[in-house]
Amino acid sequence: MKPPICAICHKRFELTGDDCGLIYFRKRQSDIDWDKRMKETGAIGHPPYAAWFCKDHYKRAAELQNLSIDRALPMIREIIL
Ligand SMILES: [Zn+2]
Repeated sequence: MKPPICAICHKRFELTGDDCGLIYFRKRQSDIDWDKRMKETGAIGHPPYAAWFCKDHYKRAAELQNLSIDRALPMIREIIL
């Protein structure tokens, strides 16, 4: 796993409480293939369909986790802080 750095604002943050953390998005075919490849080779890596979010972006990311990551990220970025 990557260290917790927000996928939107690239801020490094501490994992405190449940208002920040890792979000798993809907898997695309390429993500399903990735899972399969990892399982077959026994390798461990950061899933391409998962990303960290700080407390400023976690809530919005959680709302959009039924989308694939490539669709969700631009929508999360639209939030102006
Ligand atoms: Zn953030």
